[in-house]
Amino acid sequence: MKPEIHPEYQAVTYTCSCGNVIETQSTRSGDMALDVCSACHPFYTGKQKQADSGGQIDKFKQRFGMMRSKKG
Ligand SMILES: [Zn+2]
Repeated sequence: MKPEIHPEYQAVTYTCSCGNVIETQSTRSGDMALDVCSACHPFYTGKQKQADSGGQIDKFKQRFGMMRSKKG
């Protein structure tokens, strides 16, 4: 007898901590809880504390500008 090796895909629901619900299919059964998803991940949203790091970037730009001006 030959066992069936092809996986059985079934509908699963991923619930993100942001409230987003992703319905997909997986070989894994049962629902899953996600910390981040494509809807709330900083990489996709671009809301990665840009306001906080703004000062640091300005300082870096000033230093970099001074170095470049010294070299001519
Ligand atoms: Zn999310």
